[in-house]
Amino acid sequence: MPTPIVIAIDGPAASGKSSVARALARRLRYRYVNTGAMYRAVTWLVVSRGITPADTTAVRAMLDSTVFECGFNATGESTVLLDGLDPSPHLNDASVTASVSTIASIPEVRRRLVAKQRECVKDSDVVMEGRDIGSAVFPETPYKFYIDATLEVRAARRQRQGVADRIEARDKQDSSRPMSPLIIAEDAHVVDSSHLTIDGVVGEIIGRLKLKNLALPEGI
Ligand code: C5P
Repeated sequence: MPTPIVIAIDGPAASGKSSVARALARRLRYRYVNTGAMYRAVTWLVVSRGITPADTTAVRAMLDSTVFECGFNATGESTVLLDGLDPSPHLNDASVTASVSTIASIPEVRRRLVAKQRECVKDSDVVMEGRDIGSAVFPETPYKFYIDATLEVRAARRQRQGVADRIEARDKQDSSRPMSPLIIAEDAHVVDSSHLTIDGVVGEIIGRLKLKNLALPEGI
């Protein structure tokens, strides 16, 4: 098989990148990897075991004794199992959202999850979304996008979803951590989604991929 294609989509909280990445993957018939869900899954285990998120020694010990499995469901979307348990019903719990940036700042957590993210692409083309995909996980991919939106628009999106999420604080923590912080990769194409629909952003990305001569499925 030729080297799998990775389309990296990064951006701050509530920028619309999950919806865009999922829709793009469907159109291209690629698999979709949500790396935020991986950090959320580890955070859920930490919280549900009563471990203090800032206690890095305890978090590392928990991680060392946990079997972390990544896979794909029938529609090609990434899945996670922790010791055989499916954490997906809990990934957007307020307690998980409140602590995920603390857990994601622990270098051992990042190393472990980045290794899993790289494994995911062994046998398929993927759209992978997160915070450091273009800058740290797949810096060699020529297909890098950074989806942004104003803070007001992003906060309004969360409000409409009825989700408690201190996005400004989370962005600050994600942008200031020492290991692979949220940054705009030098060669990333920035899309401001503030006044665009999901289809509008996907269209802009596809236009850019065509300019880069990426072979796309027929009819796109
Ligand atoms: O994308 P989502 O909001 O679900 O991500 C949850 C958190 O996971 C982020 O706020 C960030 O702390 C962490 N994350 C990360 N690197 C990624 C993806 C997510 O640090 N590639």
